[in-house]
Amino acid sequence: MPFFENSNSNKHISHDTKFLFPVSMCDILSITRQTTHMNCSSPLTAFGIVGRRCAPLFKKLGIATACDLLYHFPYRWDDLRTITPIADLGPDRIRAVKGTVQFIENKRSKWKRMALTHAVVSDESGSISVLWFNQPFLTKNLKQGDNVYLWGKIEYGDTGFQMTNPEYEKVMPNRAPTHVQRIVPRYPSTAKLSQKQIRFLMAKALPLASQIKDFLPAPTIRAHNLLPLPAAIRTIHFPPSPEKLARAQERLKFDELFLIQLHALRMKQALAHSRAIPLPFPKREMQAFVKSLPFSLTPAQKKAAWEILKDLQKQTPMNRLLEGDVGSGKTVVAAMALLQTALSKKQAAYLAPTEILARQIFTTLCALLSSFPLRIALLTRTENALQELPSKSPCSLSKRSLLSRIRNGDADIVVGTHAIIQKSVRFSAPALAVVDEQHRFGVRQRSFLARLSAASESEQIPHFLSMSATPIPRSLALTVYGDLDLSVIGTLPPGRKPVHTKIIPPDKRHEAYQRILKEISKGRQAYVICPLIDPSDRLGVKSATEEYRRLQKDIFPTCSIGLLHGRMAHAKKEEVMQAFLDNKINILVSTTVVEVGVDVPNATLMLIEGAERFGLAQLHQLRGRVGRSSHQSYCFLFSETSGKETLARLSAFAKTQNGFELAEKDMEIRGPGDIYGVKQSGYIDRLRIAKLTDYPVIQKARNAAHTLLKDDPTLKKHPLLQEKIKQWEQEIHLE
Ligand code: ADP
Ligand code: MG
Repeated sequence: MPFFENSNSNKHISHDTKFLFPVSMCDILSITRQTTHMNCSSPLTAFGIVGRRCAPLFKKLGIATACDLLYHFPYRWDDLRTITPIADLGPDRIRAVKGTVQFIENKRSKWKRMALTHAVVSDESGSISVLWFNQPFLTKNLKQGDNVYLWGKIEYGDTGFQMTNPEYEKVMPNRAPTHVQRIVPRYPSTAKLSQKQIRFLMAKALPLASQIKDFLPAPTIRAHNLLPLPAAIRTIHFPPSPEKLARAQERLKFDELFLIQLHALRMKQALAHSRAIPLPFPKREMQAFVKSLPFSLTPAQKKAAWEILKDLQKQTPMNRLLEGDVGSGKTVVAAMALLQTALSKKQAAYLAPTEILARQIFTTLCALLSSFPLRIALLTRTENALQELPSKSPCSLSKRSLLSRIRNGDADIVVGTHAIIQKSVRFSAPALAVVDEQHRFGVRQRSFLARLSAASESEQIPHFLSMSATPIPRSLALTVYGDLDLSVIGTLPPGRKPVHTKIIPPDKRHEAYQRILKEISKGRQAYVICPLIDPSDRLGVKSATEEYRRLQKDIFPTCSIGLLHGRMAHAKKEEVMQAFLDNKINILVSTTVVEVGVDVPNATLMLIEGAERFGLAQLHQLRGRVGRSSHQSYCFLFSETSGKETLARLSAFAKTQNGFELAEKDMEIRGPGDIYGVKQSGYIDRLRIAKLTDYPVIQKARNAAHTLLKDDPTLKKHPLLQEKIKQWEQEIHLE
């Protein structure tokens, strides 16, 4: 049986045959009369006895009113338009028949004392045996002589073909059936709420669709040849044909994506109307800086830097995402933005996701900017330091005195973790905020900005630069980061050797360990990544603690082995990481804490246990910890399952070094929800029918939103849409 999917839907499906609710089915048209006194905001309890009974169940699905119900879209549509003559039935297919009940009775099964309902149903062409399990109440409603539609799977039983647990609907004179002989919707549901009940109420609510006001402006509807909203809603539930269904889907997808794009463009617009501190381009110093680097910038870095530094000169705040694969050299680009800010006698904040990373960035920046008389601060929960360049080393300060330095403008660049967005931290002239590994933060950038601005006396909004090493597919970028401008560093600096990546079968484990020893003998270092911290976390999966002990005792007794995981005390983590950096540790056994940006160029081998547990993008991040020098690097993958799919996924990973490609693949395999930034955006939960990957519709919606805002920036000509988007934005913020 053909069916059509709404590929974006939660499928909480109840086994509706278990909860058949004896309702007499009404023709949709005949219901119109009954619903005239109701409107879209009527509660479900207004829908007669079924409505009252089901309302608490619908509440679990977040559905309270008729309008909520109409927006509860099917996850699938079964094409049951054709009624098959019983004589033509074949096995293993879902089919619908129409016939007369010749006989029906309840029995008990011999073995499990299960309630069985047995019936024989016939039409002009023949008859078929029907069997229901555990639904003894059926005989109350279905009687001998009743005309019924039945649909379900056909199986080969003792007495020839039989239908097992079919759904049914009684034939009513002069009324079309609701659940069959049409393209039938199937809805996300919850326990005890049957498809029949949902369809029954949906059919009742359907006439109210005409009361739903179309918030899309008429020219937009015309320009994109869309169905009017009420028609689309009616059609999505009970489509007369697959073609009409497609049109309804198109319209409703457009709506969802249009609101996202409108929201993004409005944020962009709002920002364009606010003011920032323009930071003049320090030509001479910037040239000197670029010259002082031990390498020359790649064209991609130059282009990204150019876009950023140009933005900083404007009076309107920059809001830009710098995207570049692990190791593509984003730090130096960010350093240029920091330099431009500091040389304008304004302050910059640099937010890093972990303390280890904050400290590493701090050290890197101090080295990169050492020929400029700048004061760079490090502010984390446990560390407060300030380095007055060109001095060679940072000096520790009390938190109080560091905060007062920042407040008085005696620190130009402040690097730190979440600690820098605490209320107690006030800047005298914040002009630039950089967020590194942006996807790591639950905080939306805007709230960070808001707090940073609130932390100063000025009215101006700081420029904003976020950085991400997780390349997200273009289509997603347009939605998830639709309010940001995008700079991409698409190439790695020259001379990087691709990391040799291999899936290691269990019997070759020993050889992988030999390889580690070989690298160590050359003075290099290795990572061993485990999915879990403790053995107790889950049976059978390698844990870092356990593996650390095993490697130390049984495999590498002569090596120095370190352990790193997220539950270790901060100071301990720091100590281990520092020891690894100083090559006092040969092998670092770690969880994914090392995933984020840690830079140990001397590490050339990474062994990943339970690799199947990680997404491709995450594996890519992990692998990015090696291959950071001119030495050849290796990445070995161990998998605890040997399923075909797992192997295909891992070998795709082994074959490509390109983060963008991997992100695309990840999205194909696991859907967009797993891609960084997508969940945090809050959009994915709002989509009922569109997908974040519907690129052509996204593009259309973006153009439409753009055209509309150009003509009517405040939406004052479109009050309905204005109201709709305001409500939508409110909901987004509540989430
Ligand atoms: P990421 O983009 O992951 O933050 P980093 O900024 O940490 O990457 O850069 C990775 C390494 O590449 C650093 O050691 C950095 O010094 C080096 N690097 C950056 N740009 C270049 C370049 N143009 N040529 C050579 N090496 C570079
Ligand atoms: Mg980085």
